[in-house]
Amino acid sequence: MLLSLVVPCFNEEGNVIRFFGEVKKVFGERKEELEFVFIDDGSKDKTFENLRKIFDENPAENIQVISFSRNFGKEAAMYAGLSHARGDLVCIIDADLQQRPEVVAEMLDILENDSDTDCVAAYQSDRKEGKFISFSKTLFYKIINKMTDVEFVSGASDFRLMRRNMVDAVLSMTEYHRFSKGIFSFVGFNTEYIPYTAAERESGQSKWGFRKLMKYALEGIMAFSTAPLKLSLWLGVISLVAALICLITAFFAPDIFSYAAAVVLTLLLGGLILVSSGILGAYLSKIYIEVKKRPVYIIKSHLRREENGKN
Ligand code: UDP
Ligand code: MG
Repeated sequence: MLLSLVVPCFNEEGNVIRFFGEVKKVFGERKEELEFVFIDDGSKDKTFENLRKIFDENPAENIQVISFSRNFGKEAAMYAGLSHARGDLVCIIDADLQQRPEVVAEMLDILENDSDTDCVAAYQSDRKEGKFISFSKTLFYKIINKMTDVEFVSGASDFRLMRRNMVDAVLSMTEYHRFSKGIFSFVGFNTEYIPYTAAERESGQSKWGFRKLMKYALEGIMAFSTAPLKLSLWLGVISLVAALICLITAFFAPDIFSYAAAVVLTLLLGGLILVSSGILGAYLSKIYIEVKKRPVYIIKSHLRREENGKN
């Protein structure tokens, strides 16, 4: 059985070599054959050089190194990795060793002992993050689960092991604006969730600040919900009712309905119209990019060994 590890790497020069070593240590005893699919997502540091070193120094290992022409983001890196992975089982795992290879072994044991399970996903049981970020994340899951039909599991990450049938289903979703958390739920299949504790990042920095998280949350809502588009309809209905009440008030009690109230109402209406057209615009811009059918990522170089052992 071939197990592919899809590893997105962005500025991970201090981690990739150690990551490779740790995985080899954990899987040394196991019977599964391993394939490494490293994606260098336009790193500005020596990540690619280090990946090339791993590739060159381990000719007997099954390794692919895909290097992007620029930074396309983790979603694009995961998509590229899944597209090139050849395993019967595929695991997405970060390069920074926050997601321990031992957990992958745990996931494997579950899949191998239960043919009904198609995917084992890990969720962070105790998150090491600030209260504010943690609160925002919880709120995000509450909102998105209300707004969409697919289920988003709080704390579940992209760290998961999938059978080939699920990987192919994920790949059949070819949209440009990829939101994996939603895609994994959308494709269905039986997923078992196991808790894990994220280790401290040993080198480099997390690429997730609050602004990036907010942007990610909005992307998620827009990728899987059209509820915001319907919001303007409701805002319109509310405005119309308010206008009607004002009209009646002005008719029966003209002195209560002051000039100031008229100004406030005009502003309110103007605001609502702008918000609604803003939401429309946001969706339109997504459609605009989507119909252009731009590639999700562009590969600059691809190191791999063919069956005959040549590069
Ligand atoms: N990553 C990537 N492209 C990006 C940002 C991140 O491939 O644009 C990779 C990164 O190298 C790491 C994984 O995605 O392997 C998770 O990123 P990070 O550690 O910054 O996220 P966190 O663990 O803080 O959620
Ligand atoms: Mg990390």
